[in-house]
Amino acid sequence: MIARMNAADAVSLARDLLRFETVNPPGAERECARFAGRLLEDWGYAVEYHEYAEARTSVIARAGGDGEGAPLCLTGHLDVVPLGARAWAKDPFAGETDGDRLYGRGASDMKAGVAAMLLAARTFAGKLAGTPGIVLVLTAGEEGGCVGSQHLAARPDLMGRAGAIVVGEPTSNEPLVGHKGSVKFYARFRGVAAHGSMPHLGVNAVYKAARAVARLEAFDFGVAPHPVMGAPTLNVGTFEGGSGINLVPDAARIGVDVRTVPGVDHAALLERLAATIGEEAELEVVSDLEPVWTEPGSAWVARVFEICSRVRGKAPEPRTAPYMTDAANLRRVWRGAPAVVLGPGEPEMAHQTDEYCSIERLREAVALYEAIVADWCAR
Ligand SMILES: [Zn+2]
Repeated sequence: MIARMNAADAVSLARDLLRFETVNPPGAERECARFAGRLLEDWGYAVEYHEYAEARTSVIARAGGDGEGAPLCLTGHLDVVPLGARAWAKDPFAGETDGDRLYGRGASDMKAGVAAMLLAARTFAGKLAGTPGIVLVLTAGEEGGCVGSQHLAARPDLMGRAGAIVVGEPTSNEPLVGHKGSVKFYARFRGVAAHGSMPHLGVNAVYKAARAVARLEAFDFGVAPHPVMGAPTLNVGTFEGGSGINLVPDAARIGVDVRTVPGVDHAALLERLAATIGEEAELEVVSDLEPVWTEPGSAWVARVFEICSRVRGKAPEPRTAPYMTDAANLRRVWRGAPAVVLGPGEPEMAHQTDEYCSIERLREAVALYEAIVADWCAR
């Protein structure tokens, strides 16, 4: 029988995590990672750390896994986004509470999720021998490009095996069956500088970029919308060029963010985009992550949905997350592992001033993770 955590444990641990200032940039997750790692070691987990840069520390902790099947992965990130320009009414790093709300930068995205995963891990301390077990992956550098998990994915020796993935990003405890993929790139255009009074002597790089942007606005992916994720999207997010109003610009650059759905081949897509932009432009791809999609009818997801129905009293609908997660990188190593995004944070609170999470949802998330681990390890 599972020993249920009380709400005080969950709040206390989430508050401990919120007190580590892991704002990214610069990140500096090391102290927070060591704190989580020490807890897991105390509970009998085998803990390893991985730093992709100074103080950018991820944690991998395992227990069990000596049975037949591969372990279940519970994953969350330790970094949080900056506080933003608006003043906070609450201390962002104290874990203040008010009624059902626990405040702090990262309360929803996603230290509440990490706290709930840690407490679920504590519940199973010493009980996973002879079962598929679990592996916790707590990442650095998720915000702004999933950099920590990208480095982990380059180390299959560290990652070992996992048979399914739960990502604790904020979903208000609704299980989501994936998210779009993402391709982000810059395109650079070259021109020839000249005096602004004699534009015929130069080649205007801004005009080249502008023509490319107009073609991108009309870009047709040529794929049917995904039944759950919808259509792929493209957005030109930045446009830079020129160094003075009286000069013909000899350089321009645009930044493009493409969100893809299953069935879109990224390499072929990039070739078509390059052709659309024009062969003169140089493309610099800064991030390339595949979509994450698990059939809602697949056996494990059906069981997760059943657990969510039981714990939450209502049946989930197949939906996907609007944001990227580390699962895109982790699945490079754990090919074909089904993934759900399920966490106690409020998605609309992520990255907001006076971010909070619901203490009731945090408590509920511990129960959900415990039930999912119990189900996995009973197989
Ligand atoms: Zn997040």
